[in-house]
Parts: sequence; C-alpha cells; structure tokens
Amino acid sequence: MVVPLLDLPLIHSGKVRELYELPADPQTGTERMLMVATDAVSAYDFVLTPGIPDKGAILTQMSQWWFEQLADLVPNHVLSTTLPAGVTDRVAGRAVVVEKLRMAPVECVARGYLTGSGWAEYQQSRTVCGIPLPDGLVDGDRLPEPIFTPATKAEQGEHDENITYEQMLQVTGPELGEQLRDLTLAIYRRAEGIARERGIILADTKVEFGLRPDGTIVLADEVLTPDSSRFWDAATWQPGERLDSFDKQFLRDWLVHESGWDRAGDQPPPPLPDEVVTATRRRYLDAYARLVGQSFTPTAPTARISPMATVVVDVMPKPEILDPQGKAVTGALTRLGFEGLTVRQGKRFEVQVEGEVTDEVLARIGEAAERLLANTVIEQYVVRVEEQQQ
Ligand code: ATP
Ligand code: MG
Repeated sequence: MVVPLLDLPLIHSGKVRELYELPADPQTGTERMLMVATDAVSAYDFVLTPGIPDKGAILTQMSQWWFEQLADLVPNHVLSTTLPAGVTDRVAGRAVVVEKLRMAPVECVARGYLTGSGWAEYQQSRTVCGIPLPDGLVDGDRLPEPIFTPATKAEQGEHDENITYEQMLQVTGPELGEQLRDLTLAIYRRAEGIARERGIILADTKVEFGLRPDGTIVLADEVLTPDSSRFWDAATWQPGERLDSFDKQFLRDWLVHESGWDRAGDQPPPPLPDEVVTATRRRYLDAYARLVGQSFTPTAPTARISPMATVVVDVMPKPEILDPQGKAVTGALTRLGFEGLTVRQGKRFEVQVEGEVTDEVLARIGEAAERLLANTVIEQYVVRVEEQQQ
C-alpha cells in the first residue's frame, strides 16, 4: 500500500516519485502539479528497502542544476522550487512545482556509448534501434557519434521498449518527432561535455518532453540524474570490462553476488544492510559534488507548514498583570485589531490560530505579539508551530 506523502490529490505514484495536483495559477491559468522525489531506490524493477537518506533531495537538486545548464537550449517545466503554502516541510528540498504538460508519448534517449539494451541489440544485429553501427564494438565503447534511440512509454510495471525513429514518427508525427530528436541530441551533447570536464562519462540519458497548450515543447520530468542516465567514472572506464556506475552498479553487485538473493526466483530482494545504504548514499553525494562543483547541503525547511498546523504564541504577561483567564491579553489583542485569536487559560497564554497557516497569518501573529510587547501587557513571547493530528 502506498501512503501518499501529502494531503493533496495524488495524480500518480511511480516507484520513486509522486505527483500531486495543485490549483492552477490564478493569474495565468497555468496548470500546476507538485513533483516529489522519495528516497526510494530501485534495482531490477524492485523497490529496495530501506531508502537512501536524502536521495530524493539530491536528485531533485541535481535535476534542477541541469535544467539551468540547459536553459538556453530548451524551456523546462519548473515553475518554482519553493513549496506552496500549506505543503508540509517533510518534502522540502525534494519537491518542485511544475507546469502540468501534455506529455509526448515517447521516452527520448540519447546514447554516446554502447551498453545496456543497446549493447544487447548490437550483439544480435549490429544495430541499436535500427541504427547500423561499426563492427567490433564492445560493451562500454564510445560510439562514433551520439545516437537518438527512442522507446515507448510503457504502462506502469511494464518495460519500455526500444523502437526505431520511423516507428516513433508514426506516434508523434514527423514535425514533432524531428524536433524531439534534435533537442534530445543537443541536450546530450551539452551534458556530455559538461560531465566529461568533471571526470564523469555520461554514457546515455533519457529525457521526456511535454507540450504547452500553445504547442511549445518543454523539457519535463527529471533530467540527467543517476535514475535517468548512466554515469561512469572516467578514471576507471574500461570498455569490455566492468563498468562502474555511480550508484546502481554497487547495489546490483551486492544484490547479485553477496546478498544471497536469487534473481531468477520469485522472492523480493532482502533489506539493504546499513553499509550498503551508506555506501550508496556516498555515491549519490559524490556524483552531485563532482557535477555541481559543491557538496550537497540539505535545504533548511522553509517557513511553510501544513494546513492542520496551529501557530502557538506563548505570551508571558508581566508579573504585575494579574490575568489568570487571559482576559488582559485578549482585550489587548482586540484593541489592537487582532480579533479571533484564541487565548488559552494558563500561566503562559497560548494564542492559537487554526486552519491554514500562510505566511501572511504568521506575519500577522508576529505583529500582534510585537505590539503586545510594546503595549506593556506581556514581558516576552515565543512563536512556535504545532502540528496537529486530525
Ligand atoms: P516508474 O516508477 O517505473 O519510473 P513512472 O515513469 O510512471 O514509473 P515516474 O517517473 O515517477 O513514474 O512518473 C512521473 C510521470 O510524470 C511520468 O509519467 C512522466 O511522463 C510524467 N511527467 C513528468 N513531468 C511532467 C509534466 N511537467 N507534466 C505532466 N506529466 C509529467
Ligand atoms: Mg518515469
């Protein structure tokens, strides 16, 4: 059972990401959604447990960095990396507000190196997605030039299937198809160059595009993360030998050679031991630091809080204000024009606001407390947010 992370309408839940419906932008009418990357990691089509701490945030921010590197080539779907009001801090750093697009029904893959499903096809027919390649290549070889190798977008649980460019054109139409191919190759070339300067080989990558209502092609989904691409360490790249990828290879090696799991059997893989989780996390951090050029820092939670939160202001009346019922504070608040705030009885008084706690509400409460201070009723106040279970 998938338990959604957020109390918003869930549009889609993949193996490692969740999509939530957001209201359209009231000004522009742009349809929006929230894309949340979880810490889950998958290998051989299984979601492994436990997750890799911070993976969702690392990949979200890596993707964001790449969108910026590609911004002059193609517009992207990101509208904001700040959480909308009412969204809990639990997804801070790994959620982005994106434009909801009509997705092109193909996975756009570019390959500069021969491996994976491309290598499998090559061994059969000397081609990849129908593109003829020179004889004598081995697994991991660099191709004479990057190639575009589209795939169908499989339904959930199914495998994407490689198709030829001509087959793709039948789905997209010739004009859109050609643009998708050219954009994909331009993205790959740009990214491959950037990665190479940083000691990383970008063997291949998958991107997805969507269309705005006006027909503009927009780069969507995640881009150039270890989940959508193969990254190899340039220092250890050895065609025909073991090709170490930055993340999954390590997990796969452990699963196949050390965990005792039978890949051909019908059992899910065993839980990942702590060392494997730690080592995998280190690889994500390493890939991030090498590419982006600075180490990953988890983003500080933003001031946004959940709709069920309650803002509590602990006020401490001055000793000379004898006010066990909180009447002096309530009265002062009313006189100051802040009505509707509950003042609870007690030694310290709690001023609560229930319902949606927006930045505006927080500011208003801060202002009320400030003015109470100036108004000589209280000595001190503390504003804190309480998550309420409903
Ligand atoms: P899997 O778990 O096997 O990866 P999946 O591909 O269905 O399954 P996700 O990749 O998490 O799972 O799902 C993201 C979905 O959101 C994809 O179907 C993708 O095409 C879609 N998508 C990405 N960006 C946008 C966007 N801007 N507008 C609309 N849909 C988008
Ligand atoms: Mg996907």
